[in-house]
Amino acid sequence: MADLQQFNRDAEARVFDRKERATVQHNIAQYNQAVASGKSQYARLDVARSRAAVLRNRVIENLDRYLIDFETNFTRRGGKVIWAQDAEEAGREILELLKSRNVKSVVKSKSMVTEEIGLNDLLKRESIGSVETDLGEFIQQTAGEAPYHIVTPAMHKSKEDVAQLYHSKFGTDENLSPSKIMQWTRSHIRSEFHKAGAGITGANFLIAETGSVAITENEGNAWMSFAAPDLHIVITGIEKIIPSLADLDIFWPLLATYGTGQKMTVYNSVVNGPAAAGESGPKEMVVVLIDNGRSNLLAQTEQRRALSCIRCGACLNACPVFENVGGHTYDAVYSGPIGSVVMQHLKPEGNYRHLSFATTSCGKCTEVCPVNIDIHQLLQYNRRESVQQGPSSKTESMMWFFWKGAMMKRSNMDKGGAKLKNFMLRQFFRKSWGERRELPVVAQKTFNQMWKERKGIR
Ligand code: SF4
Repeated sequence: MADLQQFNRDAEARVFDRKERATVQHNIAQYNQAVASGKSQYARLDVARSRAAVLRNRVIENLDRYLIDFETNFTRRGGKVIWAQDAEEAGREILELLKSRNVKSVVKSKSMVTEEIGLNDLLKRESIGSVETDLGEFIQQTAGEAPYHIVTPAMHKSKEDVAQLYHSKFGTDENLSPSKIMQWTRSHIRSEFHKAGAGITGANFLIAETGSVAITENEGNAWMSFAAPDLHIVITGIEKIIPSLADLDIFWPLLATYGTGQKMTVYNSVVNGPAAAGESGPKEMVVVLIDNGRSNLLAQTEQRRALSCIRCGACLNACPVFENVGGHTYDAVYSGPIGSVVMQHLKPEGNYRHLSFATTSCGKCTEVCPVNIDIHQLLQYNRRESVQQGPSSKTESMMWFFWKGAMMKRSNMDKGGAKLKNFMLRQFFRKSWGERRELPVVAQKTFNQMWKERKGIR
């Protein structure tokens, strides 16, 4: 289970991993350049962002209605919807689906919700093969690691790291070039699509008006995952709804621009249900709609805005904390600023409250969010809640009590002298301040004393 001490230990190790830092910084720098070019397609980016924010907020405020619309329209075309309260129920339902159809292996395209429910581990326990078909996810699966970033799962690995990984796992040339890595992965995965009894994907958007699932990707692997096997299972959170097909006009370019710096992602599919007579494609299509803590978030009047996130990853790339401590330090499915906002609500028993304190409060996350979520403000609301619920240590509470007493009255503030104040600071704050930072030193004379001396006041 995640906890503050573990976070601090992992952060300490990661921050000084110069190789990983250099790789992450290089990838973020490339992303920043690409985003600038993606943005050039907009005459009024601010208007596009505002429209997207309004649409998403409207959906979140009327989620019950839009979800029913989606279900009605999707089932009308022969699809099936399964509602799952939590990860356990979702896992159970998916296993039931696979086992009842004697599915022995599945192909998966990138989906953070499947990470939420630990799908790969579940399938492994049931001896059902599962192959990640997105390149970044395949690399992470091969390395036995969780995704590092919600959009670029292997962001912390250089091309040399990947070549080494493939060499050790598959015996390929240890100096495999990026294009050879791509080619090798493609041919390795291709046969899996035809062997698999089911394809499992996420959804970028669920369209209420038409009951469609919109999936956007760059490699064509999601398309193969849902088109080749007989059964297509979509696993997605209940918040992914947008009102109408026409709204993709606003969300697809925004997601592409802020996700990867493209004007449009390469493959954008709208899937309406199982293949009709005379069409090729899956015979069955099931959408598993997962709550898994989203209702907790919806119950928060302020933090519920986080549900309008379109998972572009821009706030992670902008965050100085993420850049320095890295994605795995969060020990959470969703990392970075938005992860820090949502995790404690999605999984209240998961001990994620400390993540909302892992912030510089610089506001860069809010600045880059394409759907205008005031992320840094939501982190403050989480922090307020934590303080009200009293998880601070006794020492910290005591120190703030004395601090407040001193700050509220000039005569109290001047008491004790610099020597005592410096001693107290060292005594109580040395550890939490961190070994690598110099504690501030209290000046020998207070401002009040200097002012009086200067003005000759007694
Ligand atoms: S909070 Fe905003 S910037 Fe962060 S992932 Fe979601 S949409 Fe992107």
